[in-house]
Amino acid sequence: MERIQQYYRNFEQEMGYNLFDKEDYVENKTFLLYIHMLLTTEVAEVAEEFRTMFKLADRLVAEGCNEVDALERAKGAVRDNLGKELADCLAYLVKFANYFDYDLETELYTKLEEIKRTRK
Ligand SMILES: [Mg+2]
Repeated sequence: MERIQQYYRNFEQEMGYNLFDKEDYVENKTFLLYIHMLLTTEVAEVAEEFRTMFKLADRLVAEGCNEVDALERAKGAVRDNLGKELADCLAYLVKFANYFDYDLETELYTKLEEIKRTRK
């Protein structure tokens, strides 16, 4: 994951993103709220792909296709777009992780271990 986080830092540098005054409270607040808004928009776009997928699967079932095949075909139909939306979500999560100097991989493993401990 560190490779992804570093790649994203380089990408931002190359693209000229995040050019705001890190010492300015209002600019930091605006940045965080804006990125949060973009992340939630991308999460909604994932839901939109699911909606498209289930709409297609339901139509195929109504036309006589069995449910398993219908779902597989519908998954195939949204595959490219869904991948892009998931990548958009990850990009904004990485952006937050980098802003707060988290090692996202460590955070993920720590969280998953916490879930395992509390579920036993
Ligand atoms: Mg998107």
